[in-house]
Amino acid sequence: MIISEIFHSIQGEGPNAGKPAVFLRLSGCNLRCKWCDTKYAWKQGGEMETNDIIRAIRKYPCRHLVITGGEPLLQQNGLKELLKKLKNYTVELETNGSVACRITGFIEQINCSPKLKNSGNPPYSLRVKPANKKVLYKFIVQEGEDLKEINAFIRKYKIPKTSVYLMPEGTSRATILKRSGWLVESCKKEGYNFSSRLHIIMNIK
Ligand code: SF4
Repeated sequence: MIISEIFHSIQGEGPNAGKPAVFLRLSGCNLRCKWCDTKYAWKQGGEMETNDIIRAIRKYPCRHLVITGGEPLLQQNGLKELLKKLKNYTVELETNGSVACRITGFIEQINCSPKLKNSGNPPYSLRVKPANKKVLYKFIVQEGEDLKEINAFIRKYKIPKTSVYLMPEGTSRATILKRSGWLVESCKKEGYNFSSRLHIIMNIK
């Protein structure tokens, strides 16, 4: 697989925010979000053998793995081989939802983040459907107009509001905090979950 980086940190988003995790960041993405905070992962990366990846993951004293990117499902054959061998880990997968997931059986939680118009990408069909409780949906929100788009999206794909997390867009602490106040109020009104983005607020990986 082509790997961008492997590191130990805390999950910054969603229901597991604050949970220590080893991050496996795969290189390559099929989207080009204009506010992407990991543009380096679009191309930068090195080929690694499965056993070397496992050794690099195991060197940290943590049995929770977050697979991210880039878009990790572009390399799911490699991921399948890895997850078959990696025993005794709980696994979360981050995905933009544009690629069907064939490795659900190895994963405890799928964090699907469909990109709205504010990302600058052309619209795409959701391939990671709310077929089971493993999948939750995270949306990056810039302004009130995004809420209308999210409401239409979840109606179209029959996604329950309890599975949805709204997160403020921003690549700086100040922007995240500025957008959090009104977004929390929108979540209370609409019945969505709010998620902050701890890694940006704390300026950590
Ligand atoms: S899908 Fe994720 S990695 Fe790809 S461009 Fe968008 S934010 Fe960046």
